[in-house]
Amino acid sequence: SKVDNPYAGAKVYVDPEWSAHAAAEPGGSRVSNQPTAVWLDRIATINGVNGGMGLRDHLNAALKQKGSGDLVVQLVIYDLPGRDCAALASNGELGPDDIAKYETNYIDPIASILADPAYASLRIATIIEPDSLPNLVTNSGGTNTSTPACETMKANGNYEKGVSYALQKLGAIPNVYNYVDAAHHGWLGWDTNLGPSVQEFYKVATTNGASVNDVAGFIVNTANYSALREPYVKITDTVNGTTVRQSKWIDWNQYVDEQSYAVAMRDKLVAAGFDPGIGMLIDTSRNGWGGSARPTGPGALTSVDTYVNGGRIDRRFNVGNWCNQSGAGLGERPTAAPAAGIDAYVWAKPPGESDGASTSIPNDEGKGFDQMCDPSYGGNARNDNNPSGALPNAPLAGHWFSAQFQQLMQNAYPPL
Ligand code: BGC
Repeated sequence: SKVDNPYAGAKVYVDPEWSAHAAAEPGGSRVSNQPTAVWLDRIATINGVNGGMGLRDHLNAALKQKGSGDLVVQLVIYDLPGRDCAALASNGELGPDDIAKYETNYIDPIASILADPAYASLRIATIIEPDSLPNLVTNSGGTNTSTPACETMKANGNYEKGVSYALQKLGAIPNVYNYVDAAHHGWLGWDTNLGPSVQEFYKVATTNGASVNDVAGFIVNTANYSALREPYVKITDTVNGTTVRQSKWIDWNQYVDEQSYAVAMRDKLVAAGFDPGIGMLIDTSRNGWGGSARPTGPGALTSVDTYVNGGRIDRRFNVGNWCNQSGAGLGERPTAAPAAGIDAYVWAKPPGESDGASTSIPNDEGKGFDQMCDPSYGGNARNDNNPSGALPNAPLAGHWFSAQFQQLMQNAYPPL
């Protein structure tokens, strides 16, 4: 039977492949012993790509790391049909209609390996399909941020079918803990996005054979850069009587950081019918925002904009920016049960792995070129037409990006 918080009292699996990349970088041994998630980002990763480790190899290595205590293995389930419908950088191998392939060739073999009694002593945390349901909520339905690909995935129902199938198949395994992706405050933190998202999560978790008992919790900030805490900007602050929510940066959002967003999201999910025992994960791999550009106090009280821009530690041009953000740093190291309702801070995105290529690179992974990864791009409706803020010379999504890893270490907060 499942425990309330699988991270409590447990070690977390260190992926030997990520660890080797990190350790090979100058200074990398300072973090190469940290646990990161394993992304099963195409069918071939189940058996291993290019001679690399497959799922059984990881689970066997996890059993060795576990010893006599408890250990959590973190897997990202990420291969939906028509994947990454609002962007191009992480488009996947399956076409919009390939739901049968997703179920039979991807989820079923993963489920059968995870259900092997040899692995029954591991705690397996599965992070379910980053960005997918949030994309249905905000990037379809004819809004100004809609994309044709997201309209297609909304209309054919294959994100919803795929997620509910994954939830019921994986959730049926006694030692598997499903965490559904719930984007981040800079995406769903507006009331008009948050309410409909909670409803969407509930709908998908209670259809197609899935139930709320298949959901251990939710994860926020997966592979994103939103700060854990904004120490010098509170959402309730005012400047000369004007709410900071009116600033250009906050733009009427209800949240300024992930800690407050995660707790509020949890409350709303429970109110909507999820189990009161659900816990949140926060991906803190790249939201440290330390280094010399980090503010050390609040901004000037001249206007809401000087106040917020001077004091915010998130230095992006806009919260909608997501690709290889310049100036970012490693965030909180993975920690179990850091606060009430939070199961763990985790490193879901392995730091040093690119978010997307900054120019078009031919490949056999289905990945496209997204302008949000081009440092010279001036943006679109989804980042309020701001510069992309991306680092130059980035390789394909998921590939090792040494220059980014070096900057992440340099700007780590807490510092290394
Ligand atoms: C990529 C995946 C990769 C993952 C972790 C995603 O953006 O599309 O291929 O495994 O990031 O780095």
